[in-house]
Amino acid sequence: MRLTTIPLQTLRENPADAEIPSHRLLVRAGYIQKLASGIYIYSPLMWRVLRKISEIVREEMDRAGAAEFLMPIAQPKDIWEESGRWNRYIADGILFHLEDSKGAEMCLGPTHEEVITTFVKRICNSYKQLPFNLYQIQDKFRDEIRPRFGLMRGREFIMKDAYSFDADEAGLDKSYDAMDQAYHRIFERCGLEFTGVQADPGAIGGSASQEFMVLADQGEDAILISEDGKYAANVEKADSIVSPSPDQGEPKPLRKEHTPNIRTVDELCEFFSMSANQMAKTVLYTAVLEDKEETVAVMMRGDLEINEVKLTNKLDALALNLADEETIKKVTGAEVGFAGPIGLAEDIRVFADVTLKGMTNLLVGCCETDYHCLDVNIGRDFKEPEFVDLREARAGDGAPHDASVKLIGKRGIEVGHIFKLGTKYSEAMDATFLDQNGKRQPFVMGCYGLGISRTAQSAVEQNFDDDGIIWPRPIAPFEVVVAILDSKKSEQVEAAEKIYGDLKSAGVDVCLDDRQMAPGVKFKDLDLLGFPIRVVVGRKVKEGMVEISERRQPDTKHDVAIDGVGEKIASL
Ligand code: ATP
Ligand code: MG
Repeated sequence: MRLTTIPLQTLRENPADAEIPSHRLLVRAGYIQKLASGIYIYSPLMWRVLRKISEIVREEMDRAGAAEFLMPIAQPKDIWEESGRWNRYIADGILFHLEDSKGAEMCLGPTHEEVITTFVKRICNSYKQLPFNLYQIQDKFRDEIRPRFGLMRGREFIMKDAYSFDADEAGLDKSYDAMDQAYHRIFERCGLEFTGVQADPGAIGGSASQEFMVLADQGEDAILISEDGKYAANVEKADSIVSPSPDQGEPKPLRKEHTPNIRTVDELCEFFSMSANQMAKTVLYTAVLEDKEETVAVMMRGDLEINEVKLTNKLDALALNLADEETIKKVTGAEVGFAGPIGLAEDIRVFADVTLKGMTNLLVGCCETDYHCLDVNIGRDFKEPEFVDLREARAGDGAPHDASVKLIGKRGIEVGHIFKLGTKYSEAMDATFLDQNGKRQPFVMGCYGLGISRTAQSAVEQNFDDDGIIWPRPIAPFEVVVAILDSKKSEQVEAAEKIYGDLKSAGVDVCLDDRQMAPGVKFKDLDLLGFPIRVVVGRKVKEGMVEISERRQPDTKHDVAIDGVGEKIASL
């Protein structure tokens, strides 16, 4: 490709809405352009990157025995009602849904479990047709609440999604492992630094699930990795070991103390000269359930935090929000800041984190403005709550497999997610096959997502410098650019054309920068665009020489004879 054959426009200014380097750089280099919030146009150079990633994905999916196909983006509501997910996705607010001219409700696919299950149940009736794994690469639509960071969290984005169908759990384990390996190969081949972590299956449902995280300081996901590398999990899912609170001895008589305007754990610590691990804070949430909204109370040790994903899963909630001021006042009969298990409205379910179990003489709120209770004992002073693990694991905690091994906090970008779905969808949608004994069984399913557009931007987030992008070679728009320094000099144009032609014939992934611009401006532009290898055809061409450099090591320049260009590139 000659760069003059495409509209290419780099920007000097950073786009106002770009908060992270990869977003800034992709926009400034003209790779992507925003059409609407979370919706982007991919330039010809960006499309080449996306195609290269897609090709790697295809090769590895095919190698793992999966077959490519294509499902429609538009989906009818009824299959989503069959699976029971319509209301959940509406409550989440991420479903793009619409009514067609006949009044039928539809959605634009955020994911395709319903469609694939419909497809398979109509054509697969026997165990003899199993197992299989089908995948597609396609635009997905999610009306994200906070679209941001460019392609990282788009509302329309490109995903590879695959779905495996097996006769039993053992089969699913195999299909899942094959995908696990394929994902490792894919991200390695893309030139990314990544790690697999245990994940929460979320709204998709199912049992085991693993996320693939590209490590980056600006990643949206918090992950915890044990020092010994044996444990890695998304914070949403992570478990850990924390030290127990100091023993407070036998139960003492309950005391109520005046605590004017003292509301937070920190304020209480100071007021009573106590440490936070002797208190239980009580947080009120409003959960949106399938059939109603419910306010629940969660008690957590004062020095620990609530993991809202764990709470959502416990309640099987469609959505979860902190209770608003009005609700808090209603159920506690007090101002905000004094909620506690004592004096709470009768019908409120109370959950307590397991770390509180067995603790004595606690400090808690007692639903009375400006008062707190001390030496409170569970079961004596208020009804025993349900104990559940609702704690958020943190960096510095002990790893679940060994308390003496610490967890380290890192940030990552989730580029892939693989799930064991089991029979969740096949049962809900009555998708069955006849087993060897002629008995009907639900398909055992797995699903495997990979964000193509997010992976592309993640590569930039991991590979850039002050001057611009440094594309990993396997996914660069072109591996090599041949740049004409002064396109008014015919000897430079001729030599560049020859080098470009020769490299192309030799099968090198090369483009020709034949744009007419001042050399300084061109160099700056090429730095920003980030082609891995640059061949500059300049003044030295009169002596039969050109200059080759790598974007990653801009200061190491090699003077190479025109005839030796192919060989030099091959050696880099
Ligand atoms: P997230 O937690 O980031 O919202 P998710 O868990 O909802 O993602 P999945 O349903 O697991 O995402 O989708 C599979 C893959 O699709 C993700 O691993 C990610 O790479 C990609 N992806 C998901 N949502 C988006 C988005 N809004 N923009 C770009 N890529 C996305
Ligand atoms: Mg996910």
